[in-house]
Amino acid sequence: MKLIFEKSVPGRDGYSLPEDQFPKMNIKDFLPEKYLTKDKKNLSEVSEVDVIRHFTKLSKFNYGVDDGLYPLGSCTMKYNPRINEKMASLTNFTYAHPFSSPDMVQGSLELMYRLDQLLCEINGMNQFTMAPASGAHGELTGILVMRKFFLDRGEKRHKVLIPDSAHGTNPASAAMGGFEVVEIKSNERGTVDLESLSQAMDNETVGLMLTNPNTVGLFDEGIVEIEKIVHGKGGLLYYDGANLNASLGINRPGDAGFDVVHLNLHKTFSTPHGGGGPGAGVIGVKSKLIPYLPTPIVSFDENLKKYFFKDVGPKSIGMVRSFWGNFAVLVKAFTWILSLGPDGLYQCSKTSIINANYVLAKLKEYYKPAYDRYCGHECTLTGREYKKYGIKTLDIAKRLMDYGFHPPTIYFPHFEPYADETIMIEPPESEGKEILDDFIKAMIAISKEAKENPDLLKSAPQRTPIGRTDDVLAVKRPILTYDDELKFKD
Ligand SMILES: *Cc1c(COP(=O)(O)O)cnc(C)c1O
Repeated sequence: MKLIFEKSVPGRDGYSLPEDQFPKMNIKDFLPEKYLTKDKKNLSEVSEVDVIRHFTKLSKFNYGVDDGLYPLGSCTMKYNPRINEKMASLTNFTYAHPFSSPDMVQGSLELMYRLDQLLCEINGMNQFTMAPASGAHGELTGILVMRKFFLDRGEKRHKVLIPDSAHGTNPASAAMGGFEVVEIKSNERGTVDLESLSQAMDNETVGLMLTNPNTVGLFDEGIVEIEKIVHGKGGLLYYDGANLNASLGINRPGDAGFDVVHLNLHKTFSTPHGGGGPGAGVIGVKSKLIPYLPTPIVSFDENLKKYFFKDVGPKSIGMVRSFWGNFAVLVKAFTWILSLGPDGLYQCSKTSIINANYVLAKLKEYYKPAYDRYCGHECTLTGREYKKYGIKTLDIAKRLMDYGFHPPTIYFPHFEPYADETIMIEPPESEGKEILDDFIKAMIAISKEAKENPDLLKSAPQRTPIGRTDDVLAVKRPILTYDDELKFKD
């Protein structure tokens, strides 16, 4: 397909104005010379219909949750109910201005206040802040809250413990918060090795960042022990709740003793995500950490019967973001929680766990599981048996595209000897049995092809608009502008 620049025809444009009302003017007549760019830009000259057709075609190359199964592990690509969008587009929400006085946006504040209460109930926490705009942003906020807590107590703690199965954002957030990261090995059941944890946890350590079920989709049965070890040395427990899809109505981080939790409303709570779009990485804390939260939080004045922005106070870590630009995400998550209700939330997690275990049971004969045990909301298989046919897990994922499915997460997490060549499949609750059966059939067909016709996999995908890209070149020499493209061609 041609780039929009290659469709350019000199002199063609996408508008016309009556010349008697809009005489042709020279731009220099109304814009001072100093504001004009000197180097000539390669802008495309196209008509309106050229633009519409070009971008409509591009959009059809795309694959999203509205097209089919999107089993990307650790991402919870679930269906985004349309009622969420309808609520988020109510004009009272969309017309709210960042500088509106709280009196004028009582409904919006009430929504944030009630969402906080619901999330506290779901997670067993005491206070949520809606400030962070992504999971990673929530982690950094949580880390800064923990840092401030210890600074305030005059304790010098400089290390953060993180299991090797953690999402890459965990060590990154801890490092950004100024801490040294200490990796904790997983045991043969895919969970935290308690011995290693005991040895690493000391009174110079802030605490542990744990994902549970962890990033291989396994519930950590050592959770009670873990709590004792970390709290026993005066540390804090951070819960990465980005993937809460196995937990709703089943287990609450707060009950397990966790002090901070971040949630990705753009995963579990059914709001759209991807492409760096708006998200919400809300964090919840126990009472002792409320004074350190970013300011402000939404509160309710019992006497005036009004919602207001409350200053968190002098111990707050300050602001982590201005305004509430992702407010629509909060409206969508709130709508989702209310439309499901407590039973519905429980049913959601139960179904997602059954879906993942169904896929695991049907595929484990063909793709060896990293750990042979029941999983949570996602299962981790491996493609290691196909190495002897010269097939990499990447080839399996690419071939799946020819069967019309978005590939699962691959090579994450990746640690020897248990979890290598990983294929992490997350079939959320919105997927029915029929589509899972089709997916399973495709995966089994590919396992057969890998043995009998490996070239088919190595040259995949064949049926997509763009074939296999050069991953190394894409990272080392990305083409981001048309000028880069021209240079590249030279
Ligand atoms: C997705 C995810 C994150 C990061 O969330 P972003 O919104 O992408 O920053 C962190 N931890 C886990 C376990 C995740 O799955």
